[in-house]
Amino acid sequence: MPCKSCGAINQRKFTGEIGIHFPGLKNIDKPVVWVFPGLIVCLDCGTAEFAVTEAELRLLAKGDPASAG
Ligand SMILES: [Zn+2]
Repeated sequence: MPCKSCGAINQRKFTGEIGIHFPGLKNIDKPVVWVFPGLIVCLDCGTAEFAVTEAELRLLAKGDPASAG
């Protein structure tokens, strides 16, 4: 599958941990939402793709990780 950004066929799968922060000073005390997705990285242009799971999506949508789960 070619890269959506540059069209190269030089993508590789990885696994990773990503801490998603809520931006802005008012959110400075909100906990980070950790996701552990499979990553697809284009080794030509550096574009990376991953999907957030449903449980973590709910945390992000609510914007309040402490109250979900
Ligand atoms: Zn690319």
